[in-house]
Amino acid sequence: MLLTLKSHELRQLFFDYFRSKDHLIVPSAPMVTKNDPTLMFTNAGMNQFKDIFLGNQQPAGMRIANSQKCLRVSGKHNDLEEVGHDTYHHTMFEMLGNWSFGDYFKKEAIFWAWEFLVKRLGIPEERIYTTVFEGSSEENVPRDDEAFNCWKECFSHPEGRILEGSRKDNFWEMGDTGPCGPCSEIHIDIRDESERAKKPGFKLVNKGHPQVIEIWNLVFIQYNRLSNGNLEPLPAKHVDTGMGFERLCMVVQGKKSSYDTDIFQSIISRISEISGKQYGVKESWDIALRVISDHLRAIAFSIADGQLPSNNKAGYVIRRILRRAVRYGYNNLETQEPFLHRLVPVLADVMGDTYPELRSRKDHIAKVILEEETSFLKTLGKGLKLIDKKIEELGKGKKKVLPGRTAFELYDTFGFPIDLTQLILKENGLSTDIEGFEKEMKSQKERSRKDAAVDAGDWTVVRETGETEFTGYTYTEDNVLISKYRTIKIKGKESLQIILNKTPFYAESGGQVGDTGFLISGTEKIAVTDTIRENNSIIHLSQGKINDPFAEFHAVVDLEKRQMTANNHTATHLIHFALRSVLGKHVEQKGSLVTPERLRFDFSHFSKLTKEELHKVEAFANTMVRESNSINVSEGISMTQAHEMGAMALFGEKYGETVRVVRFGDSVELCGGTHVGNTGSIGIIKIVSEGAIAAGIRRIEAVTAARAEEYINEKISSVEDITVLLKSTGDIRDSVQKLLAENNALKKEIEKLQMQSVSVIVTELEGKAVLINGIRFLSGLVESASAEMLKTIAYQIRKSSENTVLVAGSEAAEKAHLLVMVSDTLVKEKNISAAAIIKEIAAEINGGGGGQPFLATAGGRNPSGIPAAIKKAEEYIKKLI
Ligand code: ATP
Ligand code: MG
Repeated sequence: MLLTLKSHELRQLFFDYFRSKDHLIVPSAPMVTKNDPTLMFTNAGMNQFKDIFLGNQQPAGMRIANSQKCLRVSGKHNDLEEVGHDTYHHTMFEMLGNWSFGDYFKKEAIFWAWEFLVKRLGIPEERIYTTVFEGSSEENVPRDDEAFNCWKECFSHPEGRILEGSRKDNFWEMGDTGPCGPCSEIHIDIRDESERAKKPGFKLVNKGHPQVIEIWNLVFIQYNRLSNGNLEPLPAKHVDTGMGFERLCMVVQGKKSSYDTDIFQSIISRISEISGKQYGVKESWDIALRVISDHLRAIAFSIADGQLPSNNKAGYVIRRILRRAVRYGYNNLETQEPFLHRLVPVLADVMGDTYPELRSRKDHIAKVILEEETSFLKTLGKGLKLIDKKIEELGKGKKKVLPGRTAFELYDTFGFPIDLTQLILKENGLSTDIEGFEKEMKSQKERSRKDAAVDAGDWTVVRETGETEFTGYTYTEDNVLISKYRTIKIKGKESLQIILNKTPFYAESGGQVGDTGFLISGTEKIAVTDTIRENNSIIHLSQGKINDPFAEFHAVVDLEKRQMTANNHTATHLIHFALRSVLGKHVEQKGSLVTPERLRFDFSHFSKLTKEELHKVEAFANTMVRESNSINVSEGISMTQAHEMGAMALFGEKYGETVRVVRFGDSVELCGGTHVGNTGSIGIIKIVSEGAIAAGIRRIEAVTAARAEEYINEKISSVEDITVLLKSTGDIRDSVQKLLAENNALKKEIEKLQMQSVSVIVTELEGKAVLINGIRFLSGLVESASAEMLKTIAYQIRKSSENTVLVAGSEAAEKAHLLVMVSDTLVKEKNISAAAIIKEIAAEINGGGGGQPFLATAGGRNPSGIPAAIKKAEEYIKKLI
């Protein structure tokens, strides 16, 4: 017979039951985690006991039970999208659990779970199914017979009730390494009799059926996963169980949905009261009522835990949940006023007994929610309209992906978090261009960084001329008029911005730097230091001043720089084409920079280019140079035409209605840049470096024409210089090899000689050994030995003798070195420390030092103090004994 229990009574029964089995009942840990970098929110009862399982902490008792506030909205467990749409997943839920830390194991865990559910709560056993781990031959883990046999004893008719599950459902792991083990789940079939007669419940276990659901998971931690992937049995075995409290309530209260239990009912009634929408009338209302009642708990508990909604990390997750609730209200329940905050008192009533923080922080929670709701509602209306319009447009164009720019606009202007946009699109069977969105985010950050440093004056309009015409594809000089100008201050430095009626100056874009040059009138000459583009305007930058803006000007582009830039830009196209020809069609442009000095080209490719590949690419590009291909430009053509010509769209570029296609032989690219008339004028392309800049993205740098000539000459002349230095007559490589071999031989020779002298010195020192109270005391001055050499000597002595103290000094390069070595036996048995001795004697050489008990060194500026230092050490040892 099923008991009729209120939720708080049920929770209490669970505690009472496990208390009767000698469990210590502990409070829930906070839901917002503070010190775990791998976890933002508690997502399972075991989180707070992680350190105990890892052996880093002692438990408060061997048997523990509790109810834990969990939130599953990020990371490994993310149920957010299900919530509201199904009837048994929540964002925030309570997980009831019992734990054994090296105490009881499978038998007790299973029998008690059974006793609690069947005997105490009266859940009919014919509605229960359990699962056990089927085993894995690969891992050498057998089927969990122990658990299987325990369950067999529980059921009066066990046939078809105990199912085997795979690693996915029935093997729990804490992480890639660490504690793990098989688990056993308890599932309950809450379907009506008639339904159950039609289809046996075991066919629906773990199949996502809303009325055949998992309520309890018993984890048996018996292995440790090593970093090599192997499993090692744990000396102390643990039990970790988790039961969804809301689901248990649903079962016990005979409901088909956890939202129908008393946990949610009064909250849902309150929302109905406010919105005038009843539960159980309309699907879209029901979903919203479930979403809101669920999210309210997640938000309120987080705020109570001290986590306010914010722009990043955990705060952002909370903000997202809150906004999801507001959106469902707004969309499905037509709540245009803030209302979530009005639900807080009901929640505090329902749950405040168990979680008193809700009651004590009630007003604070409501205030925070009201503020968030108000600001989000303001922008939501506008944003939703925009999204609807965009979805309609996508539908008309038979497109499936919302452009990143639109997603960004929604984010930037309407405060739509990107995942909210994603969610809305997903609900409409569409998706969002996330990469594009991120690119917009990045450039916005860039812009605001730049903007922050710029103090722009107002434009002085000289004459109305409309949009600037760019004449630079054809000319590098032109007669122009100033349409407007202004002064701006960048980080305190003033400069001039000039816009012309037309201009031959190329404005920085597509990776190509802007032109420089002069604007010359009859009376003045203004130097243009750069040309940039801002919202379709071509802006000439200058450090100078304009005296007569009304004059006619002659615009002159720095021709040499322009030509050098053109060489590099065309070379970029040729290298791109060569890379695709040599490496394959997976090569795509990922970015580029074209300056007068050099070019940089980033592309997708997964491994380092070999020397041969680099040579091939370079040779391929240079062949195209020598073919003297003339430029062939098609302007104002459609994207489709461009594709037919073989042009590839460039990385992340946004093109207008029509495009410009630049061709050199077989190389075809969409490009707005300025190029050479004929590839022959590049002369030569020389790749100077190749490397990785990100996973799967490589960068090539190259120089062309005169710069390539300089580069090659420089390389040749360094080889020539080396040839002269080595007096090499044959192949320089042979000479270098020979030199290296000689060098190695000499090094070995030196080492040998040093070792010889070390043994001579060691013998000498040992010859001078004196016995002080039974300790062999060696000391002496070793002429011109380095500190390193002193150490070698000490180690040599340490190897071959016990019961010895060595004090050696040396003078090298006008510095004094001291070393003290004490045999291990003396360190251990007589407690003599080299470090202590060195402290005593270092002052004699005007220095300081330290070390370990068996070896210590000091350096100082007074070599003449070495004999005194040795004397002092001798005294020290005499006094010790
Ligand atoms: P499910 O398949 O239902 O998502 P799970 O395998 O993710 O469950 P566990 O991680 O084993 O569940 O968690 C233990 C128990 O916690 C489950 O048996 C269930 O009763 C409950 N539970 C898990 N996720 C939720 C949730 N989002 N809302 C409510 N209860 C949950
Ligand atoms: Mg889950």
